[in-house]
Amino acid sequence: MNEALLTNNNRRKRNLAANGNCPLCDDVEEETIQHTFRDCDHAMQVWKNLVPRRDQATFFQSSFNDWMECNLHNKPHVNVVQSWSVLFGCACEVLWLRRNKKVFENEFLNVHTTMKMIWHKFREICDAVKNAGGLHAL
Ligand SMILES: [Zn+2]
Repeated sequence: MNEALLTNNNRRKRNLAANGNCPLCDDVEEETIQHTFRDCDHAMQVWKNLVPRRDQATFFQSSFNDWMECNLHNKPHVNVVQSWSVLFGCACEVLWLRRNKKVFENEFLNVHTTMKMIWHKFREICDAVKNAGGLHAL
């Protein structure tokens, strides 16, 4: 998974970029997958809006692969909504969209706009599932 997305870190390894730094935090940190989805200050702001304060230490503690796997397989360290894995997936997708918006359109989406996009996407999926008769997974 770490090589699948073309973060700047992976682009640099393939000689597609001069540096591998994060486009969101003023080019200070290396843009790895882990940085993009969890450790970047801008990603953390988003997670801190989704994860209750009492669960945040645990949420950010595990190794990145465990973190991704637990949250995507509905065995999360937190349970904010019944279908946390769907919400988690929506947040990851929007974090990647936000990153690309900055890279390709030089537009920065603030945390408020980012949160609105995540909840919108989440509601769309929940409505679609409900209209289709529901799934036990959700
Ligand atoms: Zn960053």
